[in-house]
Amino acid sequence: MDEIRKTPGKSLTMSQKLEGKTALVTGGSRGIGAAIAKRLAADGARVAITYTKGADAAASVVKAIEGAGGKAIAIQADAVNAAAVKAAVEKVVASFGKLDVLVNNAGTAIPNKFEDATLEELDRVIDINLRGTFIATQAALKHLNNGGRIIMIGSCVGERNMTPGLAAYAATKGAIKMFTQGLAREVGDRAITVNNVQPGPIDTDLNPAAGDWATPQKANTALNRYGSVNDIAAMVAFVAGPESSYITGASLTVDGGTNA
Ligand code: NDP
Repeated sequence: MDEIRKTPGKSLTMSQKLEGKTALVTGGSRGIGAAIAKRLAADGARVAITYTKGADAAASVVKAIEGAGGKAIAIQADAVNAAAVKAAVEKVVASFGKLDVLVNNAGTAIPNKFEDATLEELDRVIDINLRGTFIATQAALKHLNNGGRIIMIGSCVGERNMTPGLAAYAATKGAIKMFTQGLAREVGDRAITVNNVQPGPIDTDLNPAAGDWATPQKANTALNRYGSVNDIAAMVAFVAGPESSYITGASLTVDGGTNA
């Protein structure tokens, strides 16, 4: 049964399933990553986020978590910079004493017809979405405890892509799905689970729910609407928590029925 606790300065909470856990969320200053960071903190975890340019946005996520009685730090670390990401992981361990959960959320899309895409654009999505995930995962695995969690933020287009202009992006997210399966088999003996949460259209700066680009994505959902960042955070919180210990190598789609 969920415990109900009341600590001075802390709001009354029905669920603290991640109490004593430490999480790192890459790209946590805005959008889906910020919602994940806040949700994991609300569930009791100490949370570190990385970002590149948005120092103010990152600071406001930390402030929101601290204001709710949680603990958080923000670290500038570009996902493509291996040295910076390794240093960020070391900083999390130095600050919080350990690492239990890695959420590989940092990612980007550069929508363009494939024929017209530049090599720089293709390199960029591969570098952030795939190579960046490899780097953070390797760095985190050195520290992850038994029972740890590695959670990818893939995409529903990694399984089924109906959106022209996303061929290269979808390829990186398909790769994340297969990386999840392969890695799950390498770390299972440490009781570490590896799972891939696959959002559908979620209203963020990257994919605003209004405008020409949004119309076909909304129409492709069964629910005829965009999802919210909290829909993804809820699934990540479940996968990070104690009730998901027999789920690994799975791709869990939260897409309003886009792929139905
Ligand atoms: P946003 O662009 O809204 O936010 C991206 C976040 O990641 C920001 O905090 C940004 O911080 C950070 N970030 C961007 N590039 C880097 C980098 N190189 N290194 C570290 N941090 C970085 O994106 P979303 O929240 O929409 O997307 C988050 C994830 O969800 C991505 O992996 C995306 O592919 C995936 N996704 C999103 C969907 C959607 O509909 N929104 C659908 C399916 C998947 P800063 O500004 O400081 O760089």
